[in-house]
Amino acid sequence: MTPDLARAGEELAAECARYTAMGWMRGTSGNLSVVLDRDPLRLAVTVSGKDKGELTPDDVVVVDADGATEDPVKVPSAEAGLHARIAAVAGAGAVVHVHALAPVVAAELWPDGVELRDLEMLKGFGRAAHDDRVVVPVVPNSQDMRVLGNAFEAGFRADVPALLVARHGVYVWGEDLRRARHRLECLEWLLRFKVETRRHAP
Ligand SMILES: [Zn+2]
Repeated sequence: MTPDLARAGEELAAECARYTAMGWMRGTSGNLSVVLDRDPLRLAVTVSGKDKGELTPDDVVVVDADGATEDPVKVPSAEAGLHARIAAVAGAGAVVHVHALAPVVAAELWPDGVELRDLEMLKGFGRAAHDDRVVVPVVPNSQDMRVLGNAFEAGFRADVPALLVARHGVYVWGEDLRRARHRLECLEWLLRFKVETRRHAP
């Protein structure tokens, strides 16, 4: 294992443990990735099928721009192809994907995109707290990463670093895992606010 892959493995395992503690990686769900190289694109992505609260630094595998690996043993997440597409299109250094509930409920309620505005927490998402309108895109779920990738790219905006996949989960990206997590933590709060205030509205 190369030093950059070993470091990525440590970071990915630590981040997965944090997300598991927040209840956002139930069972074996969710996956995280970091970019190792840009040209050609190579990502370190969490392996498939493991309890995300128990990942070790070795539970990481290298994939290419199509999400495919040359590793003879380890199996990357089935969603690695979408991670690679997002990293390529958005220029992200890290992509995180979890099955938190609020983003999925929000996508169900607003299938054409979830509008957010006039909320202080938008600052944590890289936007303004006032006089700024953010629409988080929603795409239908698919088991085909090319279909998901095409839908993502069709609605991509450089100033909205997130994607909701209906009846599935949320993707958020950033320069590195830490910044991607900060964005996801804030976005999850924003979407929970949207869902909760709608439920209690007269
Ligand atoms: Zn998923």
